[in-house]
Amino acid sequence: MSPARPIDGTGIARQIRGEVASRAAGLAAAGHLPALAVILVGSDPASQIYVKHKVKACEEAGIRSLLETCAENLSESDLLARIAALNADPSVHGILVQMPLPKHISAARVIEAISPLKDVDGYSVESAGRLVAGLPGFRPCTPWGCMKLIESTGIDLRGKHAVVIGRSNTVGKPMALMLLTADATVTVCHSRTPDLAAHTRSADVVVVAVGRTHTLTGAMVKPGAVVIDVGMNRNAAGKLCGDVDFASVAEVAGWVTPVPGGVGPMTIAMLLSNTVDSAQRSRARAEAG
Ligand code: NAP
Repeated sequence: MSPARPIDGTGIARQIRGEVASRAAGLAAAGHLPALAVILVGSDPASQIYVKHKVKACEEAGIRSLLETCAENLSESDLLARIAALNADPSVHGILVQMPLPKHISAARVIEAISPLKDVDGYSVESAGRLVAGLPGFRPCTPWGCMKLIESTGIDLRGKHAVVIGRSNTVGKPMALMLLTADATVTVCHSRTPDLAAHTRSADVVVVAVGRTHTLTGAMVKPGAVVIDVGMNRNAAGKLCGDVDFASVAEVAGWVTPVPGGVGPMTIAMLLSNTVDSAQRSRARAEAG
């Protein structure tokens, strides 16, 4: 068996960002400059880096970004008031509150406070319900990006067995629904699944979203499978690595995403795409009166 081909998330994300930039330029020329508001509460170093990357990506795509940094002790009611103001601002098309939030603020209440018309992270109950019902809406960026990576391999998902490891509301569950929507036969595994390998060995597609290195090894993979590694971990040497044992999986799989350079760049690309989609819908509503 020849070694797996790496899936070039960086290149695919660059292409999507290029398409987003030309759509953004078209909207800006028509007087509808797309805009994303990003709220950061506190000074968590990882969150600061994520927010910086998102703001920079907006600039590069010709999307206006409004960064609001708030003190760690901001009250929940003040944050909800800030979101209400952004909901009411017609020049803002997407609102993102960087997670995690300080413990005294309810993430669930904050997410639900964002207008469903501006929920570009796709985390709200309305967006989740739309995904379940197969209705158009904002799709969560990471699993949506994973779908693009899977599509890039050319695999026809209809009737294929897909295994998702992890069942978080932001990655595992929406990933499973997207694969189901694409007519795959989907198995969802989690920390209570007794024998992971029994499921993954028959899978044509495996998406791993756990947050633990070496969750998937070559011995657990069907020859030729497509393997998507969502995990972001630090190994003992402090190096960024995924949930997949890349070396052993690459000997068996047909395709595998690297970390870094796989899923990570896609998350931001899909955020930009959702923001421009939102601006386009806002323009259509404005024109319909
Ligand atoms: P999460 O909320 O902690 O969920 C982890 C999931 O993994 C849970 O469903 C858990 O099962 C399951 N799990 C834990 N141990 C397991 C085991 N031994 N075997 C099978 N399943 C196990 O994490 P998340 O937010 O979904 O993120 C997952 C990983 O993806 C993290 O490394 C995160 O940093 C990364 N991530 C990357 C991006 C990106 O842009 N690249 C975006 C989002 C997340 P239970 O439900 O039973 O507890």
